[in-house]
Amino acid sequence: MDNALGQAGERRIGWAARAMPVLTALGTRFAAERPLEGLRIAACLHVTAETAVLMGALRAGGAEIALAASNPLSTQDDVAAALADYGVAVHARAGVDRETYYRHIHQALDIAPEIVLDDGCDLVNILHTERTELLDGVLGGCEETTTGVIRLRQMAAEKALRFPMVAVNDTRTKRMFDNRYGTGQSTMDGIMRATNTLLAGKTVVVAGFGYCGRGVAERARGLGARVVVTEIDPVKALDASLQGYEVRPMAGAAPEGDVFVTVTGNRDVIRGEHLVAMKDGAILANAGHFDVEIDVRALDELAQAVHRGVRPNTDEYVLADGRRLLLLAEGRLVNLTAAEGHPAAVMDMSFSAQALAVAWLARDPVRPAPGVHDVPGEVDVEVARLKLAAAGIEVDELTGEQERYLHSWRAGS
Ligand code: NAD
Ligand code: SAH
Repeated sequence: MDNALGQAGERRIGWAARAMPVLTALGTRFAAERPLEGLRIAACLHVTAETAVLMGALRAGGAEIALAASNPLSTQDDVAAALADYGVAVHARAGVDRETYYRHIHQALDIAPEIVLDDGCDLVNILHTERTELLDGVLGGCEETTTGVIRLRQMAAEKALRFPMVAVNDTRTKRMFDNRYGTGQSTMDGIMRATNTLLAGKTVVVAGFGYCGRGVAERARGLGARVVVTEIDPVKALDASLQGYEVRPMAGAAPEGDVFVTVTGNRDVIRGEHLVAMKDGAILANAGHFDVEIDVRALDELAQAVHRGVRPNTDEYVLADGRRLLLLAEGRLVNLTAAEGHPAAVMDMSFSAQALAVAWLARDPVRPAPGVHDVPGEVDVEVARLKLAAAGIEVDELTGEQERYLHSWRAGS
């Protein structure tokens, strides 16, 4: 590789690959078996070193790939440069505006995909609304994240979804590790890189106590913060309470928080009425979906002045009475903008499930009906088994007697 940017990207991809033994092994298997020979794939994923390792495995399997970013701010430009050299058609650059972001997705779709990989349902949405001429050629695809799967299920319920989509997010090996430990660690990483704030002794308000929220709350507590949780689901709220977190409505949490993190997949979770109640210096970060969880428009309207870039990925909004609120990453995913996204070791599992799901969709007799499909159960188990083996961890196996016991009702106590 002859350019410095691409070389930096290559080093970064190599570093990520070291922590991705399962995906690397799949890449080796794909190189021998070529299960994706000639298959055209359009992907809309964060353009990171971990995604590059996935692209490498799919290329090894014989696929032709066009890649667009799934977020206007998350692209690692050095990785994009290196990927282009691997023969992936990359349409992504960090810091693009909304229009360019969507143009890039259209450009990726120009490959006329047989398989699509999505992260938030933007690509599938464009296919079904603006690029309908391509729909007949699509065999199926995979969705990486919670909100994407929710949207696909809505499309399926309305009979609008025209091909099968595999809900990679819903595998245990994705949700339990990527959403929880990945989001937990990388979100705190993003907040610290952006602000260098001391979290010990601070009050961190976590909005949403789902898979991601649980991870963020755990890591914030581990850093010495007092954690307050907001929820709309009584069961999740109770869970948070029994785990020792304080639970309040956002209106109650707003005046208390030093740092706010939204991870709900919902819109307007932090609104004008909350913003006006916040302390001077409150930090606002989103690790949920797109840029809708914090009402940035309300923040703009309330501000008398906005100082952009007071720190990397940090904009300061000055309210009428002089209080300053700090918005990180323009309200977009803080962990993928201000930090590098999840560590490679967790993306190893999510992206191995992606690679196996793509191979499953490409297999000849498999023609699942249009709709949302679970990743085949054996994929989850295979990914976990390979991950354990790579870590040198052994587990017990059921004895024949135990197997029979678990499947019988006759034994009594
Ligand atoms: P989840 O469904 O497990 O959790 C979301 C939680 O938010 C639920 O418990 C829900 O009751 C709660 N909620 C909804 N509206 C709320 C509101 N107004 N106030 C408070 N709580 C509210 O979903 P998840 O897997 O945790 O994902 C959450 C979001 O994060 C999704 O948009 C997902 O796509 C995204 N995500 C981001 C990353 C990342 O890297 N930053 C990783 C995985 C998922
Ligand atoms: N595209 C939407 C939704 C993204 S949700 C948006 O940008 O708002 C975040 C998804 O990013 C998660 O499901 C997770 O699997 C993925 N992700 C997290 N870290 C990543 C990394 N290092 N590389 C690639 N994808 C990553």
